[in-house]
Amino acid sequence: MGRKIVVIGSGAAGMTAASAARETDNEAQVTLFTEEEHIAYSPCAIPFVLEGKIKDFPSIVMHDPDFYKKNRNILVRTETPVTSIDGDSKTLSLFDGEIVKYDSLILATGGKVFVPPIEGTNLPGVFPVRTISDGISIKEAMKDAKCAVVAGAGVIGLEMAIALKRAGLDVTVIEMFSQVIPRICDQDIAEMVKVYCESLGIRFILGTPIGSLCGENKISHVMAGDEKILCDMVIMATGVRANLDLPNSLGLDISPLGAVRVSATLQPYKRGRLVPSIYLAGDVISCESAAVPGPTMSQLGSTAVRQGRVAGINAAGGYATFPPVLSPWISQIGDMQIAGTGISSGLAAYYGLDVVSGHASGSTRARYYPGGKSLMVKLIADRETHRIIGAQMAGGEDLNGRINWISAAILKDVTAEEFVTSFENAYCPPTSMVKDVVNIAAEDLVKRWKN
Ligand SMILES: Cc1cc2nc3c(=O)[nH]c(=O)nc-3n(C[C@H](O)[C@H](O)[C@H](O)COP(=O)(O)OP(=O)(O)OC[C@H]3O[C@@H](n4cnc5c(N)ncnc54)[C@H](O)[C@@H]3O)c2cc1C
Repeated sequence: MGRKIVVIGSGAAGMTAASAARETDNEAQVTLFTEEEHIAYSPCAIPFVLEGKIKDFPSIVMHDPDFYKKNRNILVRTETPVTSIDGDSKTLSLFDGEIVKYDSLILATGGKVFVPPIEGTNLPGVFPVRTISDGISIKEAMKDAKCAVVAGAGVIGLEMAIALKRAGLDVTVIEMFSQVIPRICDQDIAEMVKVYCESLGIRFILGTPIGSLCGENKISHVMAGDEKILCDMVIMATGVRANLDLPNSLGLDISPLGAVRVSATLQPYKRGRLVPSIYLAGDVISCESAAVPGPTMSQLGSTAVRQGRVAGINAAGGYATFPPVLSPWISQIGDMQIAGTGISSGLAAYYGLDVVSGHASGSTRARYYPGGKSLMVKLIADRETHRIIGAQMAGGEDLNGRINWISAAILKDVTAEEFVTSFENAYCPPTSMVKDVVNIAAEDLVKRWKN
């Protein structure tokens, strides 16, 4: 009888972990439990289904439980919440009282939408956005709605605002901070995104927390400061918190950022001591930052997949470690892309770092090549060591490769000067200028120490 590996969670982290465990140990019994009806889909696609860029929700589901059974010999049990775990007897209890034994356990229970403690959040017409089921409910509500409020101007809030606007609704975005994308983006880049969204008719109320959500039997308006905003629906895009229900019941150590603290092997600690046979991955954990010393949250699908692989390998008796992260991110906001990596100037100030930034703007293609889109790049370096520690950019196309290129440089501890002279990139006229806007921003950065 093979090792019993149990995975809890069918998001990016859990599905990847189950597959990696199977690849590592062909004899193991791999079972995955999830509360959800749908598995193996990317929540990142929800705004684009609602925007009409993707045909429908079934299109974003990659595989069903039958696929995993037939092709990977993984048993997936949907709509089966795990209610508790007993680490001593290595058992877990399911919602119906069934007890399941494990040899290795992978907790990939993800995150929950943070709902601020204000009045009216449970009124009909108020929606979190996290799962396909949320997406289906939102799509249904959009059919009759004329105006919507999006609470929170992070990237998910903005992607949702675009989707609602393009479906013909009047949209107001309310944000407690004084800029959009407040946690990870600097004001100068954020302002470009806001101006673009405003050009599409989206209205912003910034620097004002939502006071309450109001209505008799259904949402009718939102109060923000002194303003009353009429609406037929509200999208709560107010942030994500690690889902700590099961980790807390096991007494696992929680990092100062409010997620499970793990080792490089993705094992948790209990009162400072490593817990054997349990591994975690995805939005439920904090990890080490590669930009600054200390922990960070990297609640991204791309991170969840890489962590899931490490957790799956280790749970199956292999050995892998998860390194510090920069958390490169990218978002498509209408026809505009915005991306970042490492830390922003705002976060650097929070960490007490003195930084210098270089800027450049230009085209995504050679100036003479038709169809080029505008591109603005900002590079951030530590003033003392000249090491690049962050970047942000906004433009019309192809930001992915550029932000990945800079991320690779940051992970190599490259200075601004080294980036200009040594950090290679590919070129042809339809894909960039011969000196890319990123190179020009790096040259501008180098000049900052000379002035
Ligand atoms: C609208 C939206 C857009 C996004 N866009 C991007 C993007 O463009 N790029 C990007 O990198 N990231 C994006 N993200 C973030 C990304 O989707 C998440 O970081 C990623 O899905 C986290 O994966 P996870 O497996 O850790 O958690 P989740 O996907 O949250 O999965 C957790 C799973 O655990 C299950 N579960 C929890 N508790 C129990 C229990 N007790 N019993 C059984 N099952 C349980 C849940 O049912 C769920 O299946 C987006 C997220 C959203 C919501």
